[in-house]
Amino acid sequence: MTAVLVINSGSSSFKYQLLEMDSETMLAHGLVERIGTPEAHLVHDMSENGESEKFEKTLEIRDHTHGFQVMLDAFAEHGPSLEQHPPVAVGHRVVHGGARFFEPTVVTPLVRINIEDLSELAPLHNPANVQGIDAAQKAFPDVPHVVVFDTAFHQTLPPAAYTYALNAEVAQKYRVRKYGFHGTSHKYVSEEAAKFLSRDLGSLNQIVLHLGNGASATAVAGGKSVETSMGLTPLEGLVMGTRTGDIDPAVSFHLHRRADMDVAELDELFNKKSGIYGLSGLRDMRDLTEQANAGNAKARAAQDVYVHRLKQYIGGYYAQLGHVDTIIFTAGIGENSVEIRREALAGLDELGIVVDDARNEARSRETRVISSDESRVTVLVVPTNEELEIARQTLSVI
Ligand code: AMP
Repeated sequence: MTAVLVINSGSSSFKYQLLEMDSETMLAHGLVERIGTPEAHLVHDMSENGESEKFEKTLEIRDHTHGFQVMLDAFAEHGPSLEQHPPVAVGHRVVHGGARFFEPTVVTPLVRINIEDLSELAPLHNPANVQGIDAAQKAFPDVPHVVVFDTAFHQTLPPAAYTYALNAEVAQKYRVRKYGFHGTSHKYVSEEAAKFLSRDLGSLNQIVLHLGNGASATAVAGGKSVETSMGLTPLEGLVMGTRTGDIDPAVSFHLHRRADMDVAELDELFNKKSGIYGLSGLRDMRDLTEQANAGNAKARAAQDVYVHRLKQYIGGYYAQLGHVDTIIFTAGIGENSVEIRREALAGLDELGIVVDDARNEARSRETRVISSDESRVTVLVVPTNEELEIARQTLSVI
């Protein structure tokens, strides 16, 4: 049996998942959060045979290294046994790989320095990812650690797609360009769709809509990302839970001059206080749709803005690709929201996109087609699994 441990580390938390890779099944997963406080929390879920069984504990956790010890104790006390399933490698999600990293990479001291150096482009994420790598290396010193970058899949973007029409000298000096994110998910679901349809990935043009709390669209041609909606940072593109997505950059000049907002305030406003939440006061798409359906005008307006932007990207990527074989919905909203899928694709018959209402409304956790048999474009819902993709990529390089 070949086990891989996958780590997704934030500044005060980390998520983990132990996967058995011969059958690609999850053995256990968990979350350690509020690290650095006396009220830190561990949730350890040892889900065997699809049955979830949880162990939870609140305790003081000093730092990430301590957090990993707490995780190891949970494995030892509650299983599954890491002696029976020793990880052959640890795979780490890293947010920003800049233009330097385009594939999964075994961690070396030089790689670690490069990830730290890219903190300039992802100041909230990369330092936290490095903390996780350091702590995990102490907990698992004898196996290779591999980094899988959120940006890597988009390194195939052509220059016309990744270049902003910004002064070239400034852009080059400060590494300003489109990088794109959610790459692990876009890669995974576009490959799963090809497998599901028994089609050659190399022959497919796909539009992938990853709609979670963060959201991004990607045009995938022959398995390669050729255009994507997130940019230098995950702020650009679609309307998200709390992020604006696309906005005239001059809005920040205006708010700086008129409202005396500084960079930190603008960052917080655009990233944390806008999007669906900023428009409606609601963060969760389930609540938004429920309120919109119940006649709440603010909620309806927010959902309309969300769908309008989504449609704009679908049309734009259709034009960039010239021909589209599949449109894929994934992540929390994409996999679950009947309304968002219906509204986003309504009225696109002329483009060969016809959603079958009964198929769209059917509940399932499996990959499925929701377009009608006459639809020229096959519309799919494909559940994403970033941990499995990280584990696959980790195994591919060790
Ligand atoms: P993620 O970031 O992929 O976990 O997705 C989180 C988003 O998925 C939140 O906005 C949730 O409201 C949304 N979501 C989860 N379940 C549903 C559902 N049944 N219907 C609509 N949205 C959902």
